[in-house]
Amino acid sequence: MTVNEIDQLQTYEVVVVGCGGWGLAVLKVLQEMGINALGLERGEICHNLTTYMPAMTVHSPLPYIVLDPDDPLLAQQGDDYHSTIEELIQSYVDFAEKYKLPIKTHSTLSDIQGQQGNFVISVREKDANTRYKAKLVVLATGAYDKPNLLSIPGEQAPTVHHYFAEWQHIRNQRLLFIGGGFSSADGITALCPFNEVLWVTNKPLDAIEQTLHDQKTKWGQPDAKLLNTEILPESKVYSLADKIALIQTPDGKRQWLFDQCFMLLGHRPDEPLLQRVLGDDTSHDESTFESKTKPGIYLVGALAKKHLEHIGLTDKLCPGNEGVRHIDNVINAIKNQLI
Ligand SMILES: Cc1cc2nc3c(=O)[nH]c(=O)nc-3n(C[C@H](O)[C@H](O)[C@H](O)COP(=O)(O)OP(=O)(O)OC[C@H]3O[C@@H](n4cnc5c(N)ncnc54)[C@H](O)[C@@H]3O)c2cc1C
Repeated sequence: MTVNEIDQLQTYEVVVVGCGGWGLAVLKVLQEMGINALGLERGEICHNLTTYMPAMTVHSPLPYIVLDPDDPLLAQQGDDYHSTIEELIQSYVDFAEKYKLPIKTHSTLSDIQGQQGNFVISVREKDANTRYKAKLVVLATGAYDKPNLLSIPGEQAPTVHHYFAEWQHIRNQRLLFIGGGFSSADGITALCPFNEVLWVTNKPLDAIEQTLHDQKTKWGQPDAKLLNTEILPESKVYSLADKIALIQTPDGKRQWLFDQCFMLLGHRPDEPLLQRVLGDDTSHDESTFESKTKPGIYLVGALAKKHLEHIGLTDKLCPGNEGVRHIDNVINAIKNQLI
């Protein structure tokens, strides 16, 4: 691009990429500071959360995760309530509308060129490509772009799922769940009443029992029950080809025919995009969240710390939130640059 062309681009002080909980929170605080900002989102608001089952519960109680202290759900359900993913998405969408946050949906970041004070941001929109200029960029793109895999045959087949798309209609099937985390526990308890489930995990049985116990006691699902489910702890699946799971258990090899498999081993960010934008070193300063190699670009939210302690919101957005206030550090760093 020529210098002239760059000068004509629409210009913002801050462009925030990704409008999940973190992107929205940052946009709101920037708005309060009178900073001219734009949010870009590749899908609809909270696109990543929509790839989970709507009925899954969020592990932090409401005051730690909603963005609006006047959230109607908070008034209705109280401080100890654990919202469902569906309720959380609705709360975030309402928040964005209520404060008229400046967001362009269906706008996917594809590259960032230039440097602090003069970034050129390339974006794919529905029907065209466009560019914006910004002094600073906040990357709030989350950690859910690529699923972690096992490098085993069959794991990319259409009957092997790494997210929960179209799960609601699954009935009378043989379901294989791989992975001993919360997503498996939540998915199995939702689907086991209507299906036959085999749950394979490399964790020991007492770790699984603890997860199920936490699900009832800490995460607001006292009625969660395992029905029609066999658990294979300390086991590994080594093939999923032809809808036959080959499993190594402590007692020997097992085979299990499945209709659908949920392989839930966590996700990771879009590394090629990050490398394009930041270079080979994609690390960030632990206190300001600024990229170590590209000053002026901040990596926040689940992108920076996969397991955030209660999403790390600001006291100002949510006075009841006693979680770690990561967002305050980011905002202070931005303030120092702009004001
Ligand atoms: C069942 C469940 C329970 C959870 N419970 C908790 C909890 O109790 N406490 C907690 O803190 N966290 C919890 N989490 C994790 C929670 O999802 C994250 O903490 C939170 O979503 C992180 O928000 P984020 O804004 O960083 O990322 P995300 O919510 O992942 O948002 C990132 C956004 O960036 C967009 N995006 C990505 N790439 C691009 C691109 N190239 N261009 C434009 N936009 C892009 C995505 O579409 C997405 O909308 C839970 C998650 C699940 C699934």
